[in-house]
Parts: sequence; C-alpha cells; structure tokens
Amino acid sequence: MAQHKQRFSPLRDRLVVLAQAVGTVAAVVLLSLLVRTLWHAPAEELPDFSALTVTAEMTLGQLAEQNNLPPKVVAKALKAELPAQAGQTIAALGLSAEQARQALARTLALKAERESKDFGKIYVKFALWIVLLILPLVLLVRRRLTRAAQVAMLAGAAVLFGVILGSDPSPMGTVKDAIVLGGAHRAVFWPRIIALAVFLLIVVAANKFICSWGCQFGTLQELLYRLNRRGPARRGVFPLIRLPYTLSATIRVLVFIALIVVAFAWAFDLIGPVDPFKVYHPTTLGWLGGGFVALLLVASVVVYRPWCSLFCPFGLVAWLFERLSFWRVRVDLGKCIACQACALACPSESMHGILLRRALPQDCFACGDCLKACPTGAVQFTRPGAIRRSAQDADVLAKLRR
Ligand code: SF4
Ligand code: SF4
Repeated sequence: MAQHKQRFSPLRDRLVVLAQAVGTVAAVVLLSLLVRTLWHAPAEELPDFSALTVTAEMTLGQLAEQNNLPPKVVAKALKAELPAQAGQTIAALGLSAEQARQALARTLALKAERESKDFGKIYVKFALWIVLLILPLVLLVRRRLTRAAQVAMLAGAAVLFGVILGSDPSPMGTVKDAIVLGGAHRAVFWPRIIALAVFLLIVVAANKFICSWGCQFGTLQELLYRLNRRGPARRGVFPLIRLPYTLSATIRVLVFIALIVVAFAWAFDLIGPVDPFKVYHPTTLGWLGGGFVALLLVASVVVYRPWCSLFCPFGLVAWLFERLSFWRVRVDLGKCIACQACALACPSESMHGILLRRALPQDCFACGDCLKACPTGAVQFTRPGAIRRSAQDADVLAKLRR
C-alpha cells in the first residue's frame, strides 16, 4: 500500500477527528434506532422456504393446508385453478415434488419481496435522489464545490437517504438482491430491476453521482474520510492510505464472482450477514455484521471508500457504466502543464488513469478534489464536446506518460 507523504499533525487535531468520527457513527446508529422504532420497517430478509412439506402424491388442497398457504398462492405457483382442482395431486399436474417445491418457494419469495417494500417511501426516495443530485452537479460543473458544501451535502445525504429513509432501497441492494433472488429461486423481482436501471441511468447521466452524493453508505464513508482529510488537498490528520487499484479491483471482482456462485450453488446471500447498509437498521446487524461494519467505518477515516472499492457489487457494475457518463471529469490537455497535481490530489488512482487516457481507469466518485488541485483549470467536470483537442495534446500526453 502506498502512503501519501505526511506531516505529523498535532495530537489535538487527531483527537478532534476521532471525536467527530465516533460522534458521527454514534449519531447515525442512535438516530437510525430511533427512526426505525417510530417508523416500523418490514423485514428485508427473505424467509427460509426449506421447511415446505411437498410430496408428489399430495393434493393441492392438502398442500395448501399442511403448509398453511393461501389457496391463491398455491394456484399461482402451480398454475392451477383452485378450488376447482383442489382434489388433484401434484403428480397429476405433471410435476415432481421438487418442481412443485421450487415453484412454491419462487412465488412465496416474490410475495415476501413485494410485502417487504414500502412503495410510497421508495417513490419519495427516488424523487429526492433525482432532484437533490442536481445541486452537486451544478457546483462541480461551475467549479464552486467548497469543502463546507461537500461535508454538508454528504452529511445531508447520509441522514436523509439512510437515517430517515432507511437502508433499503440502495444502489448496492439492487444488484446484490437481484443476484440472490435469481440464484436462490430463479426469480426476477421487476421493481428491483427498474430501480437498478434508474441508478444506472444516473451513472450514465453524471459519473457515478448516485454513489458520490446519494448512496447512504457511500456518503457515510466519504464523510468520515473528509473529516480526516480537511487540510491541504493531499493530507489527512491521520495518514491516508491509497489502495493499489489492481488489488482493490481484483478483490471486488472476486467478491462479485463469489456472490454469484454462492447464490446459485447454495442459495445463500454472501453479503447479507455483513451488509454494511444495516448500519441504518442496527437491530438487524449481528456480531459478525457489526464487527465488519465497525472495521469498514474505522478504515473509511484513512482509506477512501473501502466498501465501494473492495466489495460493492453495484460499484463494480457502475464502474463499467462510467465509460458512458455524459458529465464526468475531463482534462483539457491544451491547458495542462503536466504537473500531475490532480492525480496527487485524487483519493484513489482514478485521476491518474483519466489523465493518461487509460481505457479503464479506477472508479471516479466525482469528489472534485482534482478540479480544486489543478492550477490551470485544465481539469473540468463537463459534458462531451466541451473540451477541444489541440495540436499539443500528444506532447502533453507523452510528458505525462514519462
Ligand atoms: S459503490 Fe459505494 S456508493 Fe456505490 S452503491 Fe456501492 S456502497 Fe454505495
Ligand atoms: S479526485 Fe479522483 S475521484 Fe475525485 S473527481 Fe477527481 S478523478 Fe474523480
């Protein structure tokens, strides 16, 4: 791990950062507990359907009765007419016991999904996401993003989209839960796919803006990082650690593959027990999850968005879609003096890749550090076509690559 050069900060500064970080996390947990008590949130975990009693000789009526299932659920799952076919056996429908069990589990899983969603809250959350993301976009495009505005917007997003509106839905959940439901029950919950499409459209509109300024856990991690990194662009009160891109990218891809394999082979949600979004629903965090989230939050003070870079399945999918983003960080090589101040200021290796025009640079979380660091205004958060290519671009690129 490469460390930025550090000047030792006074103990007092470190105690202040520590107190702010601990206070922020404590406030998030306590307020979330309070809000969840006042505003009862339905269970977000899928029930276990392995206890269903199904034999091929059972009639549909017995199936419903023995498993305490509403007849219309049995009818829907097995594509039968009830009560007309109540006396018919599962075998007579041309199904094995296992096929019937899977069909029932799929229908029950989709029913549980629908019932666990508060659609009113979800519409409000999406509307707020879309409207409130306009503010950081305007500030970035106009190069007016100050640290105070950044901290206020990050804290506001964590409180609004996490503490008040809860851990679900989240960009991460749309990918993870779609994989788990598909793996465990070969089922697709369409509202979730629509939500994922909306999140990806936001990524396509403005570079990963949903992660940068909207995601309830992404903004909390970034807020903790910003509490530490408050002075000159590259320094933190505690030493900052920049994860090598190849390491973080490899881990994130491996986690994504493991999530799919475990879901399809064992119908198990690999992320579920350690889902960090449960910090906004603390009673659902077990010891393992609590320990993991605590570790992530402590790491967030010195490492830029550890969950996003190392583990998040949406982070990985959105990273691919970043290539299509309309508004994003672009460099006017005509103004660039190859000083690399932007790459040094970037909390990850993202700006380095963007500067060198690599095909797949690391995720850019649209934090604006590179824009502030550039002494000539060459780095901009802008639309395609806003920057003209000039004759000297190739020379500057060659200098940067040296
Ligand atoms: S990458 Fe980070 S910010 Fe984006 S969805 Fe995942 S946790 Fe949230
Ligand atoms: S500093 Fe890095 S992460 Fe932040 S906007 Fe620039 S390139 Fe993106």
